[in-house]
Amino acid sequence: MEATRRLYYDNSYLTEFTAQVVAVAERDNQPALALDCSAFYPEGGGQPADRGWLAEPVSGQRWPVVDVQGDDGVVWHLLAAGQPLPPIGATVTGQIDWARRFDHMQQHCGQHILSAAFITVCNAPTASFHLSERSVTIDLAVAGLDEDQIWAAETWANAAVWQNLPVQARFVTPAELTQIPLRKPPAVSGDVRVVSIGDIDHSACGGTHPARSGEVGAIAVLGWTRQRGMIRVEFACGNRVIAALRARDAAARAAAATLSVSWAELPEAVNRLRAAQQALQRELTQTQRDLDALRAAQWYEQTPPVNGKRVVTVTLPGVGIERLRAIAGQIAGLPGGIAIVVGGIDQSQVVVACAEDSGADARAILAAGTAVAGGRGGGTARLAQGGVSQPAALSEAMTAMVERAR
Ligand SMILES: [Zn+2]
Repeated sequence: MEATRRLYYDNSYLTEFTAQVVAVAERDNQPALALDCSAFYPEGGGQPADRGWLAEPVSGQRWPVVDVQGDDGVVWHLLAAGQPLPPIGATVTGQIDWARRFDHMQQHCGQHILSAAFITVCNAPTASFHLSERSVTIDLAVAGLDEDQIWAAETWANAAVWQNLPVQARFVTPAELTQIPLRKPPAVSGDVRVVSIGDIDHSACGGTHPARSGEVGAIAVLGWTRQRGMIRVEFACGNRVIAALRARDAAARAAAATLSVSWAELPEAVNRLRAAQQALQRELTQTQRDLDALRAAQWYEQTPPVNGKRVVTVTLPGVGIERLRAIAGQIAGLPGGIAIVVGGIDQSQVVVACAEDSGADARAILAAGTAVAGGRGGGTARLAQGGVSQPAALSEAMTAMVERAR
């Protein structure tokens, strides 16, 4: 099949066109049409496909174009299923969803400019570009970039936008190509389409671009992360800058309203809140320690001595291992004190502590428990801890441990 004449190569502002149907097929289980010419951009080069409509003036039928794919030079227009298709040779009109296309033109051209900025300002080459409805990113092939470098590149890129440089696309022969300082080598051979933005960027590119850099509007870096040894920079151009500002503003204002401050006072207010929270946490930890010590002494007192030993059993659901150890240690710090303390999220953690004068071995007591309820543990004669694998058998295990302790 003959290659589709791509009308957007010459005019990326063309939103309506007339064409002849040259093929009808099924692609990805959807009806698809190929035309002799098309202004629809097929997905490629990091730029998503256009959307829009095809219509047949004779029958009055209209098909939403749900995807556009390029295959061996042919542009396939994937249509929503369910309607009869026009015959080969029929004349159809096409209409591009301009809002979506112009957004892609802004993001895509902005990417050329930002990539030129990163190579010029930071010597950071762009390895890949990704544009979706949600985000725009480039991966820079450098190990690291500091914040100042990123803002310097952003400033350089916006200056290039506001210079309102001409953006020109032309096909050049391999011989002519050697005279053009391309940002990176072309991925295709033969005649190559070169897109030049003033003299700041020359790239081999088949995408759609505005006529002048000023139409990109603005370029804003929104964030950056390390990604597989590269730096992934998320950014937005044109109307997406406004959308990003709105989203961040909404988040900042909601947080500021909660704290009864203005958005500008947020960092200070959050720092104050964090300091207060840390102070409270310290106070709570200390209060908890004091309370645990009091309760440990109380449990000890309430346990009648048998043969000079007091075997104190305590179950504290959800209590973490550090606190369990502290409580067991408090009990074992008292004369003849033997503590068997159970806690943890599913009550599977056991701490056994024995006073020196009790003559008992914490490891042996714990072993009597794990023999019944499974699990494992270890420690010293004074302090042992472990986990049981069958918490359901815990009360039986507790009885075994108490017997062993006595
Ligand atoms: Zn391009």
